[in-house]
Amino acid sequence: MEITKKNKVVEFLKNYWMYVAVGVVVLVVAITVGVLAGGQAVPTSSPSLEFSLPMQEASIVKDYSSTELQENTSLNQWEAHLSVDFASDNADVFAVLDGTVSKVSYDVLNGYMIEITHSNGFVSQYCSLAEEPVVNEGDKVSSGQKIGTAGNSANAEIDLGNHLHFTLMLDNQVVDPNNYLDLQNK
Ligand SMILES: [Zn+2]
Repeated sequence: MEITKKNKVVEFLKNYWMYVAVGVVVLVVAITVGVLAGGQAVPTSSPSLEFSLPMQEASIVKDYSSTELQENTSLNQWEAHLSVDFASDNADVFAVLDGTVSKVSYDVLNGYMIEITHSNGFVSQYCSLAEEPVVNEGDKVSSGQKIGTAGNSANAEIDLGNHLHFTLMLDNQVVDPNNYLDLQNK
């Protein structure tokens, strides 16, 4: 019985090895294509853009949350937080991409604020800065260039202490910075 079975298998392979080989190749190609397609499913529309971090060695004081409400003790209310708050021993704040300063402003809730317009539809905003920013509207800035200092000028988040309230927009829509900046372990 054993021998007969083996012979049958050998005979089958002799006659049909081409089909078996082609089947294996097709399977390998299908798996490779599947893996590559899966690897590309990252939610970035502009993978060529290299973002740098707005603060160095910063920790996240308050993360982005669009659906889950977070308590804001400064305003005594629960709210979505469409930004990421950073704090660091080094309070320097840096531009996350090359761009042009499109707004420099102050208001009681957001404090001193800088807005930079980048290419590809991105706009970044830096709120709660320590003092009047040294950059002016119309200034060209480079990715990683120091633009200000994190502080506690935003009354809307005064309970958080010195920090940067960072917002990222794409095509006039606020987006989650975690999808574009490498904030792992921050
Ligand atoms: Zn904030």
